[in-house]
Amino acid sequence: MERIAVFPGSFDPFTVGHQSIVERALPLFDKIIIAIGYNSEKKQFFPVEKRIQWIKECFNNDPRIEVDVYGGLTVEYCKTKNALFILRGLRTAADFEFERAIAQTNKKMVYDIESIFLLTTPEHTMITSTIVRDIMRHGGDASQFVPAVQDPDAYKL
Ligand code: ADP
Repeated sequence: MERIAVFPGSFDPFTVGHQSIVERALPLFDKIIIAIGYNSEKKQFFPVEKRIQWIKECFNNDPRIEVDVYGGLTVEYCKTKNALFILRGLRTAADFEFERAIAQTNKKMVYDIESIFLLTTPEHTMITSTIVRDIMRHGGDASQFVPAVQDPDAYKL
């Protein structure tokens, strides 16, 4: 059976920290689905179509990587994709506490789905989409924190 992992997140925008987690997890799985959680109530910074396009570009359309959008519960989405693994990155102790509660709840809901955590590499620990958005919002240069994309105006507002 194919080992499929879902990497869920807002990815608003997708950062080099996210990219590193996916690249390091690739040897563990046959396929990784980068799944953008969509919530119509939640304000978004970059349109979801743009986020999909930039993530795809970042992995050069690698067939082992799928990019998708989902709504509702992550475990339900995993079932529709036959994914038995949820991939998440851990930066700090705060991340751990937050992730622990979600992963244990998910386990209670669907026992067969395992959450897998990779520790962030030290150089990516401080990168958050929130800070990257702030830099962009104020016209700063955030290029070192996001994967390079073809459109030079991609992240300009
Ligand atoms: P969410 O809104 O679900 O927290 P994010 O897009 O912020 O979504 O993050 C998705 C996943 O990527 C989470 O597991 C998060 O811990 C991880 N992540 C975020 N930033 C980094 C980073 N700099 N390095 C490694 N993992 C990260």
